[in-house]
Amino acid sequence: MRDLFRRNPKQPDVAGNKTDSDTTKDNAPMFSWNRQQPSNKPVPEQHNIPDDLWIKCTKCHELIYTKEFEINKKVCSKCNYHTRLSARERVTLLADDDSFEEMDAGLINADPLGFVSIAEPPYPQKMAQTRKKTGENEALITGLCKINGKPIALAICNFAFQGGSMGSVFGEKMARVVEKAIEKRIPVVTISASGGARMHEGLFSLMQLGKISVAFARLGQLRLPHFSVFTDPTLGGVTASYASVADVIIAEPGALIGFAGPRVIEQTTKQKLPPGFQTAEFMLEHGMVDLIVPRRELKDSIANLVNLYMLAHSRSYSHEVAYAG
Ligand SMILES: [Zn+2]
Repeated sequence: MRDLFRRNPKQPDVAGNKTDSDTTKDNAPMFSWNRQQPSNKPVPEQHNIPDDLWIKCTKCHELIYTKEFEINKKVCSKCNYHTRLSARERVTLLADDDSFEEMDAGLINADPLGFVSIAEPPYPQKMAQTRKKTGENEALITGLCKINGKPIALAICNFAFQGGSMGSVFGEKMARVVEKAIEKRIPVVTISASGGARMHEGLFSLMQLGKISVAFARLGQLRLPHFSVFTDPTLGGVTASYASVADVIIAEPGALIGFAGPRVIEQTTKQKLPPGFQTAEFMLEHGMVDLIVPRRELKDSIANLVNLYMLAHSRSYSHEVAYAG
């Protein structure tokens, strides 16, 4: 009868049975995984598998090969979830290589209200921490670039910077890039991802809505187009101002778009919201969005729209000149 328990191989058992070192091939124990068996098989090399080889989709929780995820512009290949991108990643996604010339990168917010919060450090200190964490000076980066060879004025929100919130510097940078587009007679592309106006600057934040909208109105008077792209999430004062008054409003699939967030609306109205409420698809169905464009097609779609609008723009002007003459 075989032992049910493993014994010390160096010592004979009480019955005087042989030790493991005496055991021959013929009477080898059935449970032999605990002993080192000599083998002629080549020992496989130890591979160190990097931790970042796979990532987990935050929506469907499936594992995705990181390389495939990067090639797919950070869109989940299993559920089509469009992961949030930083403003710099958006520049790489849209602008032609080395064409982006940033504007007003050194502008930094003031503290017009002397804002103090019980739960947070003072506003200037909080902003200093955010700048250090993100490596950015504001929640918006602006500049001139080319998209498929066409000159464009570009403004991109960075949601990682204080929720992409719109303060005085955000507003000033946006107004300046639109003015630059007017000066150069080129279209504006805005990519929004924001929680809305920045509460730390109170009324000064809300005033940016008007200032930016006036700049865009001047752009429109010259018949220069503004293409607005809603990404996940776009809410509050950004939705309520320039992002919703563009010539063409585009959204990424599944993006949350609205004024107040769905939880706030449910708590206020005490009503259950319909399925898909405030998604890009819901907005398209209800006429708030013109197009839903997957991320991999976004650059070409914008370039095609720019071509169409600028062609119409130049014809319109040549017609007016001919008519006036
Ligand atoms: Zn997924």
